[in-house]
Amino acid sequence: MATKINDIIKDSIKRINQEKKIFTPSNYQEIFCQVAKEKGFILEDCRQLEKYIEKLDKKIKNEIKNFNVKNLDELFMFLSSRLHRSLKNDDSKVIEALYFLVKRLLQTITVLHNKKARELAENTLKNINNKTDAKSINLFKDIWFDFLTSYDDSFLNKIDGYCTTDKNDLREFVNSILRCLNTNNEKELYKKLAPLIIATLAPSIASGIDDDLAEISYELRNAPEILATDSIQDDIKRMIKKRVQLDKNELKKKFSEVDKILFEIEKRLLSLINSSSSSNKNVIKVRNELKEIDIKADTFEIVQKKLISIADSLEYETRTLNNKMQENQKMIKQLKLRNEKLENALIVAKKESKEDFLTKLSSRRALDDELKKIEDAYKRYKIDYSLCFIDIDHFKNINDTYGHDAGDIVLSALGKILKRFTREVDFIGRYGGEEFLVILPSTELKSATEFAEKIRSIIANFKFIYKNERIDVKVSIGVSERKYCKNSQDTLKQADDMLYRAKQSGRNRICSIKNS
Ligand code: GH3
Ligand code: MG
Ligand code: MG
Repeated sequence: MATKINDIIKDSIKRINQEKKIFTPSNYQEIFCQVAKEKGFILEDCRQLEKYIEKLDKKIKNEIKNFNVKNLDELFMFLSSRLHRSLKNDDSKVIEALYFLVKRLLQTITVLHNKKARELAENTLKNINNKTDAKSINLFKDIWFDFLTSYDDSFLNKIDGYCTTDKNDLREFVNSILRCLNTNNEKELYKKLAPLIIATLAPSIASGIDDDLAEISYELRNAPEILATDSIQDDIKRMIKKRVQLDKNELKKKFSEVDKILFEIEKRLLSLINSSSSSNKNVIKVRNELKEIDIKADTFEIVQKKLISIADSLEYETRTLNNKMQENQKMIKQLKLRNEKLENALIVAKKESKEDFLTKLSSRRALDDELKKIEDAYKRYKIDYSLCFIDIDHFKNINDTYGHDAGDIVLSALGKILKRFTREVDFIGRYGGEEFLVILPSTELKSATEFAEKIRSIIANFKFIYKNERIDVKVSIGVSERKYCKNSQDTLKQADDMLYRAKQSGRNRICSIKNS
């Protein structure tokens, strides 16, 4: 290390000579630091310039960068010229003067007899003595503004006219009271003291005056000399206690009143919030109204009045909301009724529908229409027809065992089978729950019976699967031919009778009028 420093010194001297510089301490220092830096040494003595610059204001630091300040001499040059520049500026002189004026004013306020003003002044002084920015000065400006606008010296009115005091000068004010009381005449003194004592006995918060207090005040006013007696002094002590108690009670009462109103407001707000989404707007309105209440500036009565008016408007709001809810209730009732009507209409529509919703076959109504048509054709052109009445055997068991859904699936599967194994001209429909009717135009009983047997057998052998379980489905069929009956209704009845017979004789079979 030692040799290295020696090297730096030697090299520095060499360089000063080379550069033909005068051998001054500052030149030496500058070159020495340069050489040290080049050799990778940062020596504390060489950092002086940076250290000074670091302490400066950000704005000045940037200026220094632009001026390319290389050493301490240059730094001092720069700073002194800058100082000179700012001193020349009239504005900054005025600002400086104002700054000191403000400071003196604030110091003056600290010696005045107003606790709040004094505290505010002390606080402001403390802050402007530290480095202060525009934001905090503005903040203080606002606080002072608030102080001035809310300043209230009406408390001085209590001794208004007493000993002709001048309220504008506190010193004069106190002195005049003292002068006033400065008398050797006892009687005179009591006379002057009495009003002061009466003033202290008047409650400052409670509105009225208690009888005892009124009485003692009356006595003092009329006979101030009683102040000399021990008993009156005890009385006064007692009365002062009483006066404090009265004020305390009044405060309690006032708070409980406000509490009640606030409770009411809270209750109504909650009901508003709970009952409607549109209430949000009203809740915000109420919140803003509450915000506007300035507890400091408004007297208790004004605050109370404002709260009551908020509670009133909330009451109105909840009442209209209640009405709205009742109206809604009415509407819901009407909607229910309409719904019932629509449901009934749907039932009627289903009956009138041409298509069965479950099996997609023709409906009972469509079957009736078709029967009418084919009967007309029979009467007019002697075109015969046969009917097959199909009924699932023990269908109730299927529902009971596998559930209603399974029953429905069986019904719709059966519909598909019937559709698939009938001719285009045949008319198939669901007559009722698990009963189907097939109208076979231009078909004699023999062919109809064959058809019925085919269907019975197909169904008996069909694998109805529901949730991996095979359901055994069998049908019975009754067959009739128009030719052997009186009319269409009779043909239907005959088919039904035959179905009944098939059921009677053991199910899973067909019965026709011919083989009956
Ligand atoms: P049978 O062999 O004597 O015809 O006996 P069954 O159980 O088939 O006859 P029953 O008339 O006693 O029962 C018919 C059952 O069909 C009763 C009813 O609940 C059911 N049913 C009627 N319509 C439907 C429907 O659309 N879906 C379902 N899953 N079941 C129905
Ligand atoms: Mg049946
Ligand atoms: Mg049945």
